[in-house]
Amino acid sequence: MNVLVLNCGSSSLKFQIIETDLDSIEKNADQQKAKGLIERIGSQALITLQAADNPPIKSALALRDHRAALDHVVRWMISPEAQVPGIRSLADIHAVGHRVVHGAEHFKKSVIIDDNVVRGIEDCIDLAPLHNPSNLKGIYAARELLGHGIPQVAVFDTSFHSTMPETSYLYAIPYQMYRRHKIRRYGFHGTSHRYVSFRYRQLAEKDLENTNIITLHLGNGCSACAIKRGSSLDTSMGLTPLEGLVMGTRGGDIDPSVIELLYHKEAMSLAEIDALLNKQSGLLGISGLTNDMRDLIAEAQEHDDRRAKLAIDIFCLRVKKYIGAYLAEMSGADAIVFTGGIGENAPPIRERICRGLEWLGIEIDEQANAALFGGKEGEIGKPGSRVKLFVIPTNEELLIARDTVRSVRNAPRRW
Ligand code: ADP
Repeated sequence: MNVLVLNCGSSSLKFQIIETDLDSIEKNADQQKAKGLIERIGSQALITLQAADNPPIKSALALRDHRAALDHVVRWMISPEAQVPGIRSLADIHAVGHRVVHGAEHFKKSVIIDDNVVRGIEDCIDLAPLHNPSNLKGIYAARELLGHGIPQVAVFDTSFHSTMPETSYLYAIPYQMYRRHKIRRYGFHGTSHRYVSFRYRQLAEKDLENTNIITLHLGNGCSACAIKRGSSLDTSMGLTPLEGLVMGTRGGDIDPSVIELLYHKEAMSLAEIDALLNKQSGLLGISGLTNDMRDLIAEAQEHDDRRAKLAIDIFCLRVKKYIGAYLAEMSGADAIVFTGGIGENAPPIRERICRGLEWLGIEIDEQANAALFGGKEGEIGKPGSRVKLFVIPTNEELLIARDTVRSVRNAPRRW
């Protein structure tokens, strides 16, 4: 099956075409046939399209909305010039898989999209006002352009965490707030945590029951997940992706009283405070320079910049604290898995996180660590490290394509 995987943001559309089916999943033989990104939808959009191993083609074009952006993608992929293997007409796209950020308590697994599901996703808009409307735009556009005959599947960032117990997901505020408004922790990045935990099982030859690990997704957004017996037991993001680790522009855990203080002292509106916490904090806020870890590492190394170093220190310390907390919560773990742009590509950050945790059985191998970046997968712990250390590049699109196939074929999900 050729699955079109769509990930729609407020002004962006990312896609891949992946050929996969139940037997290719079994043999790990899925094939990525095309990928691309459209940014700045709504004005002069920047477009990058790439078929198979051809070089990427970049262009700019005024695209009014997500429908126009998807229309552009679809026209390109079926055109002979695009040279997408096996795609010559709309009939060659067999299913669509959508990344949907918030499934709240409605969606505990990936589902085929029908009108009820669309209503369910709309119901979650209150909880994810920035994300779900964009995801819905992708769904509406795909329905309109590809027709109702092509099955579409929603894969939720939250659903992997639906196994969290009440003790992990409830905030210690009056219980009625949960009952009335479903104010609770949901967790995000579930597709990534689930994918790397599945790969860990393959690499370490473990079955689900014996998968007790901590996964660290460190990208622009960052989250940690405690995975016990293969299921999410706890995760660092909460009601929204703002809680937990320090991220590119989000500060993570904070005393809520800061909000009241900012409101009074800076005369900021709630919307401004929300923007401060989501867009101006984290690595960017502390360093005053950038949200990009690569540039911070360069600033720290080349110019000994105090605030760049401070941002890195606070980032690593927060990850360390979560590792400690999750080891306590899980009564120990067999492995820690690093993923995401920083987790996959920044050996010095991985080293900083692990340094000082030897007494917990976490021993990083400097050479192995220094050699793993740029999409490589493998172990970075010393041979005797009680807690194994892995780098596993995430692949959320692949998991979305596989869930789409399994949902369409009505096959059970084994991981
Ligand atoms: P997103 O969460 O948007 O998918 P990514 O997972 O791509 O983002 O992660 C982006 C982060 O990864 C940025 O902070 C970027 O600086 C960092 N990163 C990418 N490559 C490197 C590298 N070689 N060294 C350090 N950080 C890197």
